[in-house]
Amino acid sequence: MRTPPTATVPRAARTVTVLTALTLSVTLAACGQSGDGGSKEKKSGGKGSTIGIAMPTKSSERWIADGKNMAAEFKKLGYKTNLQYGEDDVDQQVSQIENMITKGVDVLVVAAIDGRALSDVLHQAGEQGIKVISYDRLILGTPDVDYYASFDNKKVGELQAGYILDKLGLKSGSEKGPFNIELFAGSPDDNNTRYFFQGAWEALKPYIDKKQLVVRSKQTKLDQITTLRWDGGTAQKRMDDLLTSAYSSAQVDAVLSPYDGISIGVISSLKSDGYGTGSKPYPVVTGQDAEVASVKSIIAGQQTQTVYKDTRALAKQAVQMADAVLNDKKPEVNDTKTYNNEKKVVPAFLLDPVSVDKSNYRAQLVDSGYIKASDLR
Ligand code: BGC
Repeated sequence: MRTPPTATVPRAARTVTVLTALTLSVTLAACGQSGDGGSKEKKSGGKGSTIGIAMPTKSSERWIADGKNMAAEFKKLGYKTNLQYGEDDVDQQVSQIENMITKGVDVLVVAAIDGRALSDVLHQAGEQGIKVISYDRLILGTPDVDYYASFDNKKVGELQAGYILDKLGLKSGSEKGPFNIELFAGSPDDNNTRYFFQGAWEALKPYIDKKQLVVRSKQTKLDQITTLRWDGGTAQKRMDDLLTSAYSSAQVDAVLSPYDGISIGVISSLKSDGYGTGSKPYPVVTGQDAEVASVKSIIAGQQTQTVYKDTRALAKQAVQMADAVLNDKKPEVNDTKTYNNEKKVVPAFLLDPVSVDKSNYRAQLVDSGYIKASDLR
């Protein structure tokens, strides 16, 4: 806001000007508006502010929990929330965010369906001074994202690949193999996909180079192995095709799967092909999210592993970030280098993922209260 140059204004008039300016800025702040033509000063702060939470889909347990956990944490601090699910429809998510902006939310927390589809709508948010926290998935190609709360996404892939190597006895120096492996990746429009795959690929590649691991389908490039919208049915169909084209006279020993819903699809395909018997055991199948169906599958000896990411802790981080920006404080971050969204490096708080299988699911998931023992019966 401009004030006249003080040197030319008499003392009494100056006091009035300052008071008027103060009153005006207090009034504008109370209305959630900035006083300089709408640029970047919105910060209602504290109790009563509304947080817009845009989640991608209810088709996966984790996002339901993320939304619920955040809403509960925000409520504890006295905030209101507007929680919406885009049901994996990009346009729907854009219009949900647009609506939140129109209704005057104070901060946005967004887990994008398509990381590149939000530039225009977030530009509107930026114009109105609404801070944006990218949740779990990095929003790409826009300067209008302020903080990122996620897990160490590369480590997720490292844990999956490391688990496969371990189960197959492929420690460095071992001569074992060759083993047959097939690779699956997540949705091509989700920035996490390439981090998960990069982590896994770097661990697997030395063994592929030495032919101790063989990808019979020859599909090893990211664009050959992605699964649009992380859809289990799409993965099942691809696994059917792989089994027909490359495994008529061989068996699969391992499947790198980036997400439990994909693992369930892969396992259905394997089951229809006769896997899961004495002479044709299930391959090692990884996963991610510790969803109840997959943990049950692990207990039943079908899926082998999953990566547990405590969404309760992630929700708390995002809430901490929103609360800080609304109160003029700096959010806590622990990474200021890794996540370049092509317009800026987004300061991030990254949590640690944990590998879970039959041996530790009880300690990690049940004892921690993440999953109820009764849900696994
Ligand atoms: C998340 C994963 C999840 C996947 C599918 C990714 O962006 O990081 O936890 O499995 O989306 O919903």
